[in-house]
Amino acid sequence: MLNIIIFGAPGSGKGTQSDKIIENYRLFHISTGDVLRDNIRRGTDLGKTAKGYIDQGQLVPDELIIDILAQVLDENKDKATEGVIFDGFPRTIPQAEALERLLADRGTHIDAVVGLEVPEDELIQRIVLRGQESGRADDNAETARKRLEVYHNQTSPLKAYYEEQGKYRAIQGVGEIDDIFETIKSTLDSL
Ligand code: ADP
Repeated sequence: MLNIIIFGAPGSGKGTQSDKIIENYRLFHISTGDVLRDNIRRGTDLGKTAKGYIDQGQLVPDELIIDILAQVLDENKDKATEGVIFDGFPRTIPQAEALERLLADRGTHIDAVVGLEVPEDELIQRIVLRGQESGRADDNAETARKRLEVYHNQTSPLKAYYEEQGKYRAIQGVGEIDDIFETIKSTLDSL
């Protein structure tokens, strides 16, 4: 079993690299952003609450997202026998602590955190381009700047948190998608 977190700023390529990791390692993908967007599309109560935060570039409250994550984990036990890749979660220290408890209760743990490192100006460019191509509502320059600020304040401290546990693996996130994936692969294969 292999449980990993794909970590990085908005626009760092977490979704793109997750797809390749899933294919190669048969992991179950949990993207909290995808779960929230799916709820918004279906017009659920959760979707209605989440939309306000997402459109402002803010994080959805910890209690809410932690409950959702626990639910997704329990609903997909059968699909996650090879392990899970967490994408977009945790995003705060309380979320990381909750994840540790949730996994411990289920007799497992995080093996590694793959941190995609990309310079700030490149991130904004990528997000704006993605918004033009996909029409994703929070991918515009203004919201992207807010999300990056939220990332620096609330999410980036997780790097030190996982470094202290010896789990953080820094990956240079600029270059060809396949080259970045090869680096991730050699990191995961050496675990
Ligand atoms: P990106 O990594 O490009 O910001 P995501 O799809 O991971 O995109 O997240 C989109 C938005 O969904 C975030 O800006 C945030 O509002 C909300 N969100 C996703 N995951 C979480 C989380 N773990 N905690 C709080 N909010 C979240």
